[in-house]
Amino acid sequence: MPKAKETVLEINLTSLEENYHYLKSKLSEETKFMGVVKAFGYGSDAIEIAKNLVELGVNYLAVAYVKEGVVLRDAGIEAPILVLHPQPANFSTLIDRCLEPSLYSPNVFKQFIKVASEKNQTNYPVHLKFNTGLNRLGFWENDVDFIDEKLKESNVIKVASIFSHLAASEDEKEKDFTISQIHNFKILTASLINKIGYSPLLHICNTSGILNYPEAHFDMVRSGIGLYGFGNSEVENKNFQPIATLKSIISQIHQIEKGESVGYNRA
Ligand SMILES: *Cc1c(COP(=O)(O)O)cnc(C)c1O
Repeated sequence: MPKAKETVLEINLTSLEENYHYLKSKLSEETKFMGVVKAFGYGSDAIEIAKNLVELGVNYLAVAYVKEGVVLRDAGIEAPILVLHPQPANFSTLIDRCLEPSLYSPNVFKQFIKVASEKNQTNYPVHLKFNTGLNRLGFWENDVDFIDEKLKESNVIKVASIFSHLAASEDEKEKDFTISQIHNFKILTASLINKIGYSPLLHICNTSGILNYPEAHFDMVRSGIGLYGFGNSEVENKNFQPIATLKSIISQIHQIEKGESVGYNRA
């Protein structure tokens, strides 16, 4: 790599490709792959990463906010995009740009149906997020009946997937907790599928879930940090290559004594 003439963050797309293939090697052939490009592609470049992931063959992309999805659409990316944390104020834009919402509470669910219905949508793809222990966003198991009733009232939306998020998939010490999350997920999805009468995609694994819980890959996995080159453990880090290198130039080097200070307020 050339020496830096200024401060640059270099992104190595070959490393991205190798990380993707390593993660794919952990999956069965049928398991779909969602590439997570939220937060500016984990601080790299969401558009370039997303374009390359689409070329590599990912089935889905995911962002956190509607705004992030709009940026990808403006860049000409046509792949399905899940918005993990949309706000009702942005539902209209979300639909205009063919983004797919995660719906995570009865309130958000009702508001989405209202907006989609006003925009004359039918079978608009949505993703239902259930809380199985992270206790952040998500429906609870006892929301299943409410969801089923609402779905039967109209055909404005259609459930494309049901998912949950693991709280500590990289932590060996929390194995029992993770297994209980996976167990709860199986029970609530079976109950919901039984009621609604069709089978949306199921997914719960992030990067460490892919590596540590092969029994929980279900129909799709969602990977972010692994694509960017981190395996969340000493052993797995060896199988990934960080895609980003920050390069700069050194302006000056001082030799100072131990106990001396540097900069404002001697901080
Ligand atoms: C960020 C995020 C991911 C990706 O997790 P990694 O540990 O970076 O692979 C997956 N699912 C959800 C819901 C997320 O918010």
